[in-house]
Amino acid sequence: MPQDAINDVPAITGPLADIVQRGGHIFQDNIPMDLTPSVLGLTFILASLIFLLRKGHGSKGEDGRERNAGFWQFILPKDIYTHISARVDIGLYVIIRISHAFWGVALLALVGVWSENLVIGGLQSIFGDSPALTVNYGWMLLYSLVSLLFYDFVFFLTHYTMHKVPALWVMHKIHHSAEVLTPMTRYREHFIAGPIWVAGQALSLGFAAGIFAYLFNGNITEATIMNISFFLLLFGFTGSFRHYHVAMHYPKWLCQWLHSPAMHHVHHSYLEQHWDKNFAVITSIWDRLFGTLYVPEKDEYTPWGIGPETQGEYRTFWGNFTGPFRDWWGMIRGTE
Ligand SMILES: [Zn+2]
Ligand SMILES: [Zn+2]
Repeated sequence: MPQDAINDVPAITGPLADIVQRGGHIFQDNIPMDLTPSVLGLTFILASLIFLLRKGHGSKGEDGRERNAGFWQFILPKDIYTHISARVDIGLYVIIRISHAFWGVALLALVGVWSENLVIGGLQSIFGDSPALTVNYGWMLLYSLVSLLFYDFVFFLTHYTMHKVPALWVMHKIHHSAEVLTPMTRYREHFIAGPIWVAGQALSLGFAAGIFAYLFNGNITEATIMNISFFLLLFGFTGSFRHYHVAMHYPKWLCQWLHSPAMHHVHHSYLEQHWDKNFAVITSIWDRLFGTLYVPEKDEYTPWGIGPETQGEYRTFWGNFTGPFRDWWGMIRGTE
């Protein structure tokens, strides 16, 4: 009998623990969720379709205003890709890329496996033996959906807290100090905020994995690997497009349920009516529940950045790199 059996109920190995035991290659191969050719290819194909359908309308310039553009200015506008903000993105990306490779593996193995075991153990102590359901496509789809909803909720909560707690905002401010949006801006995050995001992701994936590992008595490692691969493409694409200067809108009714990339343009705007809006990543459910949903008008003006008053301090790589430490020091001394 395994040592961690609860009240003579046999232990179940969850999928994340199983992947770690197998050597964790799925984590190492796929983390961080990166700017892969498929993600960028999908972004450019859809942007080209918007260009055709809207006859050159729908992209924004460095000032966050919609403008009519020729094809190349629409897809890769010079004013955005030569902007100091886009260049600073590269330096911040390199650091987060290196540190995410470590945090992704470490936290999925620690936090992910911990939350998975906690849920399995909790369900066993309440309901006893696993019902050992048979795995089929319907259940697997439900597993994907539940994982997505947990992921989205934990992302929402982490993001909301980052905006509302001043000591955390000074870290996340680095993401918002971007004055233009490019797919790389998705990774514009201070390196000390990286593990917080990854821990949340690991927690949510582990939670869903725990529930379904209990229902199926383990046996969901392959489905979990498929889920993670699918999520990587989904989050990679949405992350890339919502940080692209082309505004992809959904119909207004759909925005009540799903987050369009244009809704994230709003999240990056420094206009007061746009502050602290649209925190989630996939669905609009949590923003609706917490009263932070903002559905923009077509091509709404969204000037990006933290606003003219403090933007100057965050224009260089060094200004961003040292930003949280400057602010924390100010808080300790009582000048902030
Ligand atoms: Zn934010
Ligand atoms: Zn963003």
